[in-house]
Amino acid sequence: MKHKGILIVVSGFSGAGKGTLMKQLVHAYDNYALSVSMTTRKPRPGEQEGREYFFVNREEFEEKITNNGLVEYAQYCDNYYGTPREYVEKQLEKGKDVILEIEIQGALKIKEKFPTALLLFVMPPSAAELKKRLEGRGTESLEVIKKRLMRASEEAEGIENYDYIVINDKLEECVSQMHSLIQAAHFSPSRNEEFIENMRKELEAFK
Ligand code: 5GP
Repeated sequence: MKHKGILIVVSGFSGAGKGTLMKQLVHAYDNYALSVSMTTRKPRPGEQEGREYFFVNREEFEEKITNNGLVEYAQYCDNYYGTPREYVEKQLEKGKDVILEIEIQGALKIKEKFPTALLLFVMPPSAAELKKRLEGRGTESLEVIKKRLMRASEEAEGIENYDYIVINDKLEECVSQMHSLIQAAHFSPSRNEEFIENMRKELEAFK
């Protein structure tokens, strides 16, 4: 049975380690395509145009919205973030599972537009660990870290909208757990409607 690609939404508090997790997942297994978002946030040291994000100004971003070039977008801590449409559609057609690493408002919009999307929420082992990771990253000011921790508290209210939570304690284990969850999702009836419908028709013919 040939599977179609599914959309996989990965959210999680800033500092939960999603970026590293996603890179490892795509590296370790074949069938994933990682969508690169567009943002008005400034690049952090080490971030590259077209690898972590497409970095644009507000005008360029708003033009992309007007042209219907984004599958979803949201504002997060004073910046725009959005998922370019073209890449996602092409990869899904090719049968790839497309990963969107996005925040919760975007995740809910995706679930509305693509009901078979799988929603995963990455959590740190504890809140103290989250704070430690954010401070340890050393890329944000104390004020930005505070904003992100407050945002985490808001986002924690929405976790029930997700299909599964994944605890990012040991990286390798977490990558393999995510892969297993995604593989299992491929076998749910709602993601195999065509196969099931065909089977029903064929069985009908035996009557
Ligand atoms: P950061 O500035 O730390 O790279 O990202 C901030 C937040 O924006 C993260 O929660 C990240 O998942 C989210 N994000 C990144 N790209 C997108 C996107 O295309 N759409 C939405 N809705 N959120 C995004």
